[in-house]
Amino acid sequence: MNSMTLTNTEIRDYLHGKNDTELFAAADRVRREVFGTDVYLRGIIEFSNYCKQDCLYCGLRRGNRSVRRYRLTTDEILECAGEIGDSGISTIVLQTGEDPWYSDSDIAEIITAIKSQYDIAITLSLGERKKETYQLWREAGADRYLIRLESFNEKSYSDARPGTVRKDRLNCLETLRELDYEVGSGIMIGLPGDTVDDVVIAIRDLTAMHLHMIGMGPFVAHNQTPFAEETNGNVDIVLRAYALMRILNPTANIPSTSAMESARPGGRMRGLQVGANVIMPSFTPKRVKELYNIYPGKNVQQDIDEDGLQAALAMIEKAGYNISWARGDSPLKGKCSN
Ligand code: SAH
Ligand code: SF4
Repeated sequence: MNSMTLTNTEIRDYLHGKNDTELFAAADRVRREVFGTDVYLRGIIEFSNYCKQDCLYCGLRRGNRSVRRYRLTTDEILECAGEIGDSGISTIVLQTGEDPWYSDSDIAEIITAIKSQYDIAITLSLGERKKETYQLWREAGADRYLIRLESFNEKSYSDARPGTVRKDRLNCLETLRELDYEVGSGIMIGLPGDTVDDVVIAIRDLTAMHLHMIGMGPFVAHNQTPFAEETNGNVDIVLRAYALMRILNPTANIPSTSAMESARPGGRMRGLQVGANVIMPSFTPKRVKELYNIYPGKNVQQDIDEDGLQAALAMIEKAGYNISWARGDSPLKGKCSN
C-alpha cells in the first residue's frame, strides 16, 4: 500500500473492511518506523464535570440534571498533578466541561504552579475559549491543546451541539496554532446522522490540517442524554480510522482512547496495535472519578481501575509495546507550515 496514492475510494473501502490485515500491518509498520514500539503516557486530571454546553451526546451536558457535579480546588488539582509528576509521567492533561467558574487567571495560576514544580508538558482540553484566554494560558506555560471537531457533517454537528457553530471550533484550532500550541483535534465516529462518507472526509481534512495530535473514538450512547437510544459507533471502523490516520499522518501522536474500551472491552489495547501510540491514564481522584461520566463506562469504578496507571502499564506490555516516560513532543513541532 502506498499512502501517497490513497484515494477517497480506497479510504472508503478500507473503512468498510476491504482488507484489515493489510491495513493494520501497514499502520503498525509506519508507527514502528517513527516511534519504534514506544507508547507515551499522558496523565489526565478531569477537574470539573460542570459544563455550560448542552451537547446532545455527552453525559456532562448542562441539561443532565441527574449527574452530581463536582469541582476540584486548586490545591486538589495540584495534588493530582504532583501524583502524575511523581509517577514519572511527563505530560499532564487538564480536562473539564466548559466551566466558567474557574477564571482564566485561576487556570493560568494552576499552569504556572505545575510548571514551577515539574519539568512536564501541559495539555489543555477545556473547550472553546477566547483568543486572549488561550494566549494567557500559553504564556503561563501550556504546551498543547486538544479540541475535537467532533463531526465533519455540518448537520449532525449543529443538531448535536445546539447553540454552537462548527466554524467557531475551526477558528479555535487556527488561533491555537497561531499561538504556537501543539494542536490536537479529531472526531467521534458514529455520531447519529454521520455516515462512513463523513469519516472519509474527516480523514482527508484532518490530514490536511497537519495536526500534532489526532484523537478519535466511537460515539457511546449515554442513557441520561437525548441520544440514549442511538446506536454506538462501530469500533472496527474506529480501528480502521486509527490505521488510516497513522498511515497518512506518520508523526502524529494518536491516543487509543478510553471510549474504545467502553464500546468494546480490549478495544483500547487493539488501538495500540493498529497505529495509536499514546495512552491517557486518569489521575482524577477516586471520590469524584465516576462522576466524570461523559459516556457510559467512562471512569466507572470497578475492582480494577481500568482507566488508571497500573492498568495502562499492564495493557501496553500485553499489547507488545514499550512504556515510554518521555514527554513525547510532536516530531512536527516547529516544522509545521500551517
Ligand atoms: N468539554 C471539552 C472537553 C471534554 S469532552 C470539549 O468538549 O472539548 C471530551 C470529548 O469527549 C469530546 O471532544 C467528545 O469527542 C467526547 N465525547 C463526549 N461525549 C461522548 C460520547 N457520548 N461518546 C464518545 N465520546 C464522547
Ligand atoms: Fe460539555 Fe464537552 Fe460534554 Fe459538550 S462534550 S457537553 S462541551 S463536556
